[in-house]
Amino acid sequence: ERIPRDAAVLIIGLGRFGEAVAGELSDLDRDVLVIDENARLVQKWSERVTHAVQADARDLEALRQIGAQEFPIAVVAVGSSVEASVLITANLVDLGITQIWAKAVSKSHGTILARIGAHHVIYPEAEAGERVAHLVSGSMIDFIEFDDDFAIVKMHPPAAVVGKALGDTGIRRKHGITVIGVKANGQAFAYATNSTVVNADDIVIVSGSSADIERFAGLYA
Ligand code: ADP
Repeated sequence: ERIPRDAAVLIIGLGRFGEAVAGELSDLDRDVLVIDENARLVQKWSERVTHAVQADARDLEALRQIGAQEFPIAVVAVGSSVEASVLITANLVDLGITQIWAKAVSKSHGTILARIGAHHVIYPEAEAGERVAHLVSGSMIDFIEFDDDFAIVKMHPPAAVVGKALGDTGIRRKHGITVIGVKANGQAFAYATNSTVVNADDIVIVSGSSADIERFAGLYA
């Protein structure tokens, strides 16, 4: 089932994670309904998002009365109470919501959420920790890793790519890495070609498997 790109989003729980999701979506002008059992938080968010409702989302009937089943996308942002997170996710599954995103605080929590029917399980703390590990361990400035172990990284260029045309460095063959873009100091990013020459103080965007990129970044040290 296809969901329109601008579909309304139901967010349950206005802790740090839920607030970040709600704030970003409302900045993107998306229709958002937030639900929290805490009246103070609901009051605070009622000015910022389309709708804010105080309710206990463990209560299926309450969710139905709010019209939760009308939303194609829901985010369960309750983490600290695993029991509540599981009950709320089960309710959303019962309501037939097409895309349920649920935050997990541990691997077993995530396994349960997936088992009861969450379509996407997010581990914000584990993911942030992994990112920081990549960032502190070398020359990487920014790091996006995709599910299939493929990554795109912004980094200072290792010596292996500096000073000659990229086509002559053999980096794709030797390291499994493709340089996508290059940014010289004070200039905009430009797409890299075979004839691009990278300078030591440039910043590059590279893609490849996470393991290859990790090895490549290690050349810098
Ligand atoms: P974070 O770790 O992202 O800060 P928390 O799990 O601490 O997230 O925050 C949970 C939020 O969800 C709180 O604002 C809490 O009031 C709300 N919440 C918890 N249980 C329920 C529930 N059964 N129904 C609605 N909201 C809930």
